[in-house]
Amino acid sequence: MKRIAILGSTGSIGRSTLSVAESYPDRFQIVALAAGSNVDAAFEQARRWRPRVLSMAAEKDADRLRSRLKIEGLAATEVVHGSAGTVQVATHPEVDFVVSAIVGVAGLEATYEAVKAGKALGLANKECLVAAGELITTEARKQGKPLLPIDSEHNAVHQCLRGGRVEEVDRIWLTASGGPFLNTPASKFAEITVEEALNHPTWKMGRRITIDSATLMNKGFEVIEACRLFHIPPAKVEVIVHPQSTIHSMVEFVDGSILAQFSVTDMRLPILYALTYPERIPSDMRFAVSDLRHLDFCPPDLKKFPCLSLAYEAVEAGGAKTVALNAADEVAVAAFLEGTIGFNDIPRIIETVLDATESGKLESIAEVLAADAEARRSAHERVAGSGRSARKVGRPKATSFA
Ligand code: MG
Repeated sequence: MKRIAILGSTGSIGRSTLSVAESYPDRFQIVALAAGSNVDAAFEQARRWRPRVLSMAAEKDADRLRSRLKIEGLAATEVVHGSAGTVQVATHPEVDFVVSAIVGVAGLEATYEAVKAGKALGLANKECLVAAGELITTEARKQGKPLLPIDSEHNAVHQCLRGGRVEEVDRIWLTASGGPFLNTPASKFAEITVEEALNHPTWKMGRRITIDSATLMNKGFEVIEACRLFHIPPAKVEVIVHPQSTIHSMVEFVDGSILAQFSVTDMRLPILYALTYPERIPSDMRFAVSDLRHLDFCPPDLKKFPCLSLAYEAVEAGGAKTVALNAADEVAVAAFLEGTIGFNDIPRIIETVLDATESGKLESIAEVLAADAEARRSAHERVAGSGRSARKVGRPKATSFA
């Protein structure tokens, strides 16, 4: 029986993880959950799974949940809150495996503490590897515990890497859908609206990751994740546009053999792989190979999508640069969603923040968080600067999305 904690239990990866646990009741036990601010969802999860401990983001939500559980006679679940609460969930002594799926740097400290406490980790939080990948992977190696990627591309690479040794890898090929503007000419990019950018051709995702997919910054973050997870230099990580998203990623070995992973696009599959590794167990998630007709590939257009080049530059420089890349992107994307800046301003703002950031090595999570705060401050300043000029030319404010 594997005993599981989920950081981000009410989000999409958290709910998929619970659905996997539901399908294999004699394999997985849910011991601890960290939810966000959705008290109703947390209450339902507590009632269904009876965890030892459940953490809410805010104290007032923890108080509400605690009294509701008491009324239901479920006071055996300890309710905690805040970042200390999330750390308590991540390091609970009865937990063997932690699924890290809190979006943003909020999940960073708890994820690092989980690794330090010797837990095996399933990683769905991108910021953990982009901002603090070196710290987390170094600690996991020290503990001798696996870091299993739940991002579909990295999960695919992890599977393909079982076909050879890391020293035998020539290149990792990360596939990218190309986003909604794959075929939009560069001359039209300045006029891209919030509505157009939020309209991803294949996936319904959160607003930030949808915009990150439209700028290809999401793929840039995944290049950084790949470097950190597999200890591979950026020069050995290639991005290839593959609009069908059938192949989740590939590994090319020095002898010229290329292994690819494909399967249904269902996040429960990488979650199941991570939870059962190194075993594989039967599932009903089958891919209809006989329905497969054609697969298209083309290289990404770095002129149209400068965010991808910025990510390569940041990971080459290392240290605080990747922290700044993530922080500046978050601020710039939020400003775009508010209608304060245009689509082309997103890479421009990130680039100026990166230029102003020293690439010093960061030795602790506290230093990562300080670099993150500094990059955010710098990005806000630059957004305020371009916001004024944007309003001067009369860019409409997308109030419907505020
Ligand atoms: Mg991905």
